Formats: sequence, C-alpha cells, structure tokens
Amino acid sequence: CGIVGYIGLNDSKEILLKGLEKLEYRGYDSAGIAVKNENGVAVFKEKGRIADLRSVVDNSVEGSVGIGHTRWATHGAPSHVNAHPHQSTTERFTLVHNGVIENYSQLKREYLASVELVSETDTEVIVQLIETFVNQGLSTEEAFQKALKELKGSYAIALLDNQQEDTIFVAKNKSPLLVGLGENFNVVASDAMAMLQVTDQYVELMDKEMVIVKQDEVIIKNLDGKTMTRSPYTAELDA
Ligand code: GLU
Repeated sequence: CGIVGYIGLNDSKEILLKGLEKLEYRGYDSAGIAVKNENGVAVFKEKGRIADLRSVVDNSVEGSVGIGHTRWATHGAPSHVNAHPHQSTTERFTLVHNGVIENYSQLKREYLASVELVSETDTEVIVQLIETFVNQGLSTEEAFQKALKELKGSYAIALLDNQQEDTIFVAKNKSPLLVGLGENFNVVASDAMAMLQVTDQYVELMDKEMVIVKQDEVIIKNLDGKTMTRSPYTAELDA
C-alpha cells in the first residue's frame, strides 16, 4: 500500500500513476487517484491493478494538483466503493489513507451520527470528520488538526480541499510518509522511490506532524500548531 501526491505546474496524472507503479511492490488490492483543477476534484479508482486504474482514468481531465493511493484492505472488502480516494458528503474534501484507525466506530458514534457513510472503511470517517468540523466553523487547517488529534491508530494521510487555493494537507503517525521538494513543484510519497523520477530531495516527517504542501512552499507543524524546521536530505537512486 502507498500514497503519492503532486502539486506543481504540470498535469499530475502520469506522475501519480507512475509513482503508484513504483509502490506496487508494497502490495495492494485497489488503487485510485484524485486530480484537482479549477472545476473541482475528479476521482478515479478501481479494484485491481494500476493497469485497471489506468483504464478508468479520463485522460481529458487535467489538474496540476493530485493525490494517489494503493490500498491494502483492512476495513471493508476490496471493491470500487471501498477504494480510495474517499470524499466527504458534499465532495468538498477528498482523502487517501494508509493505516488503521482503531477508534473509528467511536468517532462515528460521537461525531457522525447524522452523516451517511458510503463505504465500509475506517478511512471515510476521517474525511467526514474534517467536513463536520469545517461545518462547525473551523478552517480546513484547524479541522484537519482537530481530526488528527482525535485519531487513534496508524495513518499516512493526504487531503485535498476543493475550495482551498492549491494545497495538499498531509500527516502521518506510525505509517511512512515523505515530502519531496522540486523546482516549482513538491511531491508526497510513502517511499522516495515513488518520486525519484522527479526529485531526489526529501523531507522526513515525524509522527503526529501535519504538513501544508503548496507548489512553492512546505510548512511542517506539530499538532499544537507549532512550526517545525527540518532540512531535506538527498535520496540515493538505489535506496
Ligand atoms: N484501513 C484503510 C482501508 O482499509 C487503509 C488500508 C491501507 O493502508 O491501504 O481502507
């Protein structure tokens, strides 16, 4: 299973799909991508191989911001509806997740009693939680931070907000996730290998950090909102 993301000036689809192919070795049963442009976010996902995903991607949709996922099912069978990305009820928020949310049924009971969930995944609870907190008046960053504080378990997460100026929100706890730095673009990947095709400069994330990734800027914060500084390292080609 794995996650990739791209934010830059070019169409993201092929970079995401190639990145997911590089992560195939980690094992997976489904795959998906979400591509954002000025019209909103388009989601393509499929049970099976990356080749199956490629066959459902609409090549006429372009977007310079995107996230991708390979799923190893833990909650809910491998299927189209359980594949990631998952979206909130209004489709404002789109999210991919690797890991296991141990308290997802408690979160569902506590916060999502009136929300209709469409999948059987623990993941969908995260994206609905973020929308619920935004509906209560929080900004996306505040809602993301609040949701992360509620989660128990392991996660690597990438999130898109179709009302936000181009940004990928990411976070991790006990699942791997890196941010890769480029010239006029930045990327996200579970493993540097996925994105070595576009950059060899990576920033390691610590558990319980969230990152605001923009095309020309990467801001790392802890869950109390404190900004963290960290130097990138050079990933080796044979790493
Ligand atoms: N627990 C999530 C699911 O079953 C994510 C699994 C994964 O790490 O791919 O959908």
